[in-house]
Formats: sequence, structure tokens, C-alpha cells
Amino acid sequence: MCGKPSENKTVNPTSIICNDRVGTVTCSDRDELLRAPLFHTPRNPFLQDRALEYHGDGGLLIREGKVAACGDFETIRATNTSATVIDMRGGYLLPGLIDTHIHFSQVRVLGGLGRSLLDWLEECALPEEARMADESHARRIAQVFVHELASHGTTTALVFGAHFAAATAALFEAGAESGLRIVSGMVMSDRQLRPELHQTPDRAYRDSTGLIRCFHRRGRLLYAVTPRFAPSTSEAMLEVCRTLRQEHEGLRFQTHLNENPREIAEVRKLFPWASDYLAVYERFGLGGRGAVMAHNVHPTASEIERLAAAGTTVSHCPCSNAALGSGLFALKRHVEAGVRVALGTDVGGGIGFGILKEALQAYLLQRVAPDGALLDAAKMLYLATRAGAEALGLGEEIGDFQPGKSADVVYVKPPLNSPLSAVLERTETPEQTLAAIFTLAGAASIQEVRVEGSIVYKLRSGN
Ligand SMILES: [Zn+2]
Repeated sequence: MCGKPSENKTVNPTSIICNDRVGTVTCSDRDELLRAPLFHTPRNPFLQDRALEYHGDGGLLIREGKVAACGDFETIRATNTSATVIDMRGGYLLPGLIDTHIHFSQVRVLGGLGRSLLDWLEECALPEEARMADESHARRIAQVFVHELASHGTTTALVFGAHFAAATAALFEAGAESGLRIVSGMVMSDRQLRPELHQTPDRAYRDSTGLIRCFHRRGRLLYAVTPRFAPSTSEAMLEVCRTLRQEHEGLRFQTHLNENPREIAEVRKLFPWASDYLAVYERFGLGGRGAVMAHNVHPTASEIERLAAAGTTVSHCPCSNAALGSGLFALKRHVEAGVRVALGTDVGGGIGFGILKEALQAYLLQRVAPDGALLDAAKMLYLATRAGAEALGLGEEIGDFQPGKSADVVYVKPPLNSPLSAVLERTETPEQTLAAIFTLAGAASIQEVRVEGSIVYKLRSGN
């Protein structure tokens, strides 16, 4: 399962994905100064005014993979005359996008519309997930998966792996090769799904331990303990989750919470001792910083309070919530209570890769939600970048362009004669420009993606 552990891949050469091609590129030893308008949110716009930083003639100085300076181009240029200037005007620089909830094994069930969660699992997701027992299938999907992340500007993703150790290893291998930051883990379940997706708690412990030893903290990879959701995990399995987190430092944690009323009723039946859904995870110490729980569309007031107190992040997946009819997320209640919220695409319950689109969908659903939060462009950018970094305990390393952070960068440049290029001709404020990018920039506008300063993706037919 575990190939020869490679050396830390944060140094050259790093991988480059160029559409369907994977190759390597050696990045410059010299400092690079990227010149383009740039946006980032070094502060939290839900808590502070003027959290959005914009530089119209922006400069991003990259030294040894890190942001050495971010600001006005001429000012940075004046004190860094030896840096190689890369003129990227005509496009825009954003921090790498962060997806905090996505399923590797569900790529091929995208588009399974017309069902609610439990029926969708039974009829669409689980049969496909069972195919991950075939390692060659898993390897092929892993290539598609990492390519699609990069081509949508996602530089970091918290990913549900597969129910099989070998398939999860295939994802980690593809992640390492791609240069992206992949945080993932084998999905753990021992009941309620279908027999081929179940492991015994002992087996799950052994397989997870093997994967952790292989991949956790290898280069840009991190391991996340991943019980699928309470209905499919016995108490013994949840106990294994707790043990793994105690035995290995720095593991992340991910699962699902309060997505659908029928699912919640099931939890009540299976865990009669629990006061609510969250209490099941709490009993086994599964929450807190570095823990991400997807959805929470139907929380109790007490659950919201406890999530905030523990520092657990809720991954909001608005496309999935709409596609599966799960409901409208109470963003305002979460934010006002101090719960950390970030964004997830929830492929394949959602409608595809891409956190820009997910932020737009969050905006749209909040417009029609009772007591919805009005999201502006700054809040959308924060949710798409820095909030995800904080969710994963990587807030000191990624999420914005503050000096010292990793130079994870998305270069957005609209195709010629596209609606986005037409709109950007007439936008008058940074907020209007950024809102237009969120509304209209799809994968065709993602020209280049860098992780730690090195190019990991370049759109083949530039303009
Ligand atoms: Zn999910």
C-alpha cells in the first residue's frame, strides 16, 4: 500500500498538472515578483470592517516558496530589483482556494439529481463507492480528482478518501504527485451501508494506522480520521477514531453532521443515550480544532453553542444542500454564535468542483433563506480561502498573502470575449470586480495555480 516514502516534496522539482498531462517543472531559484491586481482577506470580514485588501497594481514577491512581500508593485520592486518580474496584468491573483468537504469516491455520481440524502446514498453513491475496491479504478479516478481540484483553483482540500485502504493510498499518491495539499483519510464504517463497504473496528484501526504512518505529514499531505457519519459507525468504531487521534499527533478529523431529518432520526434510534447528533461525536472526544463537520443544516441551539465552544468547523456545502434538498443553512446563527464556517463542494452530492461557484451558491441561498446573511465579495473570498485554512489548523501557513505564508496562488484571467471579460471592463470598485469573478469565473478562467510558489497547473490554451 505504501510506496517508498519520498522526501519532503516542498522543494524542487515539484509536479505540474497541465490539463491531462502530469509532468515536472523546476522553479526559479531567484525571487519572483508577480505583477497583477490582487485580492486577499488577511482579516475576518465577519468580525472586522475593511477586511478585504486589494492592490490595483499589485506585487506578490515569492522567495523560496513563501510570500516575501505583498502590496503595491512599484514599492516592492524598488527594494527588490533583482527579482524576476512576471507581468500577469490582465488577470487577478487570489490566494489558493480551499475545499473543506469533498468525496474522492463520488466523482462519477455527480449529477444524480432528484433524490434526498438516504435514497441518494443507497441508489447513487454507495454502489459507486464499492467500485473503489478495484485499485486500478481508484488510481484512474484519483488522477481525475486531483486534476479537477487544480483546474478549479483549489490548492488545499479536505477529502473523504475511500472505504478501502488501497484506494485511499492511491488518492494520497496522486495528491503527492500533483503538488496539491491533500488532507484525507480512509472512510470508516461498520454498519448500515452495504457489506463490502464495512470494516471491523480492528481492521479499520490497522489500515488507518498503516495509512497514517505512510502519508501523514509526508510533504504536503495530512491525515484526517474519517468516520463516515454516526449512523454507519458503531460505538466501537468511534472508539477507534478516538484512539487514532490519541496515538498520532496532528491528525485532522472529518465527518458529517445534521444533514437531513431522516438521518437525524436514525441517529436518535441508534444512539438512544445521546441528547442530539453532536453528542454522539462528543462522547468519543471527536471535535474541536482541526475537526470539520459537514452540513449542520438542522442544528439545535445547544449544538451550535457547543460547536462554537469547541472550535469545531462546520463545512457549508450549499450546492449539495440544494441538490439533495437538505435545506437552507443557518449561516447567520452559526456566525453570530462564533462557530467557524468554511466551504465545501461535497462532490458528488454537490454539483461539481470549484469553490468560487460554491461561494456564489452560498450567497444565492442566503438571499432566499429566512434571516439569511448578506454575503459580500469580501466574505465570499474569506470563506473560500482563509476560513478553510483556519478550519484545517493551517491558518499560519496558508489562506492569504501575508508575508511568511506559503505562496499558494490562483491566477484568474477571463477568456477573451467572455461575459467575465466584458463585465470587468466596466467594474469600478474592487468589490465589484471580485463579485464578478465569483459570479462568472469558471475553470476556463483559472489560468495558473501555484503551491509554495511552484506552478502545479496551467491552462493549456492561454489567451
Ligand atoms: Zn459529504
